[in-house]
Amino acid sequence: MPEHILVGVYFAAFMVLVLAYKVFQRRASIRTKREYGPAFTIATGVLMFATVVIAWPGWWLAYIVVGCSVILFTWLSIKHTHVCDSCGRTLFGSMDFCPKCGAKLKS
Ligand SMILES: [Zn+2]
Repeated sequence: MPEHILVGVYFAAFMVLVLAYKVFQRRASIRTKREYGPAFTIATGVLMFATVVIAWPGWWLAYIVVGCSVILFTWLSIKHTHVCDSCGRTLFGSMDFCPKCGAKLKS
């Protein structure tokens, strides 16, 4: 595939992912956010890895380093992402109360 088409597909995929995530965060139920939210994190990781593959074709060491980093950060992001039971806001990190509605969060 020609490089300019590959880059175009990459940016189109990234834009679709960003827009889908925005719609997902606004419209999805709390249950749906919990079930399918990690899919967005994984898709973001795949696109980050694709960035390296497109930018540096044939740099296998970069693929290994970035691939391991993406797997680690994806896992950490999924592990530390929570959805508030009260308002449905997606939260990152550990906190005792939701910053949007003030509800106590499960730990
Ligand atoms: Zn809340």
